[in-house]
Amino acid sequence: MVEMSRILIVGAGFAGATYARSLAEAGYTVQVIDRRDHIGGNAADFVDANGVRVHRYGPHLFHTNTTPVFEWLRRFGTWTPYLHRVRAILPDGRFAPLPVNLDTINMVFGETLRSEADAAGFLRRVSVPIADPRNAGEHLRSRIGDTLTDLFFRPYTRKMWGLELEEMDASVVKRLPIRFDTNDQYFPGDRHQALPTEGYSKLFETILAHPNITVALSVDYVPGMERDYDFCFNSMAIDEFFGYRLGDLPYRSLRFHQKTVTAWDDQPCSVRNYTDDGKFTREAWWHCLPNHLHAETGRRTITVEEPCDYRENDNERYYPVKTADGRYQALYQDYRALAEELPNMAFIGRCGTYQYLDMDQVINQSLLAVRRWIEGRRVG
Ligand code: UDP
Repeated sequence: MVEMSRILIVGAGFAGATYARSLAEAGYTVQVIDRRDHIGGNAADFVDANGVRVHRYGPHLFHTNTTPVFEWLRRFGTWTPYLHRVRAILPDGRFAPLPVNLDTINMVFGETLRSEADAAGFLRRVSVPIADPRNAGEHLRSRIGDTLTDLFFRPYTRKMWGLELEEMDASVVKRLPIRFDTNDQYFPGDRHQALPTEGYSKLFETILAHPNITVALSVDYVPGMERDYDFCFNSMAIDEFFGYRLGDLPYRSLRFHQKTVTAWDDQPCSVRNYTDDGKFTREAWWHCLPNHLHAETGRRTITVEEPCDYRENDNERYYPVKTADGRYQALYQDYRALAEELPNMAFIGRCGTYQYLDMDQVINQSLLAVRRWIEGRRVG
């Protein structure tokens, strides 16, 4: 006989919503709270006065190779296929495909390379021999050489993280592949690439619409709250939970600048990255995403991103920082050791586990972990 119980979930983003739905379907009574006044975490979206769907916290482009994750999401609404493409604006105003591919090399170097072998050979010639790259800078220089590194990655990374490439862990830039062909997709090779047809916020409404789930918004986690529940899955920042007693886990944040335009071009990309050394990193052209133009107002919305420290942006945490020396991951491990002493709480999601996770990774980890937890309870 399964003993049912009451569960508290802190945070209504992908981690919290995945746990909530899975637990509700297993018969648990679930209370979700979020300090914000909306569900969906950083994936939330809305339709603005220009009739354009805007992702409140920057572009969220779903992509995964983990089929069970996509199958799970498809239970909660239809998805529209969308292959993401990005262009970087060169100093002379031209648009170069990003990630770096054959066309990017030809454009930047004025070459006329034609084949993958040409591109691979070219990159081999310009790359810097570094046997065992120890950071993002060395990784890039050893793969694509100084010119491409300094054009596409050095100023952007400085703006984005407030750190030099040499201070960053290589995994951060390895998110972008290097292509020898002309494929200009941002996530080439990912089997499932799509956007929720009715938007992310609607998707979250459907995931959370279950008789066993109650959602309370604009509610902060208060220490001890979990005492009224049998267990708490907590997606708040783990250092905040412990009162920063071991030190801060830093995050990068973004300030979003909304611009309305009445004229636009037809570049085949919804995101444009800046290569200059100003303070902005990229701009999103929402109407280029499928189903993002809801009414023809003659206007379009473009959002420009300006990175900053989360402390300068009302503690809005977006990106955990991964430096090459791993100092923050070591600090996180110390917090995790403290968390393991808590009998009735587990930390989940980007902020709870201090990892730069994509949406599909959060959902995958959550689906697997919540299943293990439920099975453990049944056995126990
Ligand atoms: N990056 C860069 N230049 C670019 C795009 C990315 O230097 O034009 C680096 C930068 O350090 C960035 C990382 O690669 O933080 C990962 O980029 P991605 O586009 O995956 O970041 P996200 O979409 O998660 O903000």
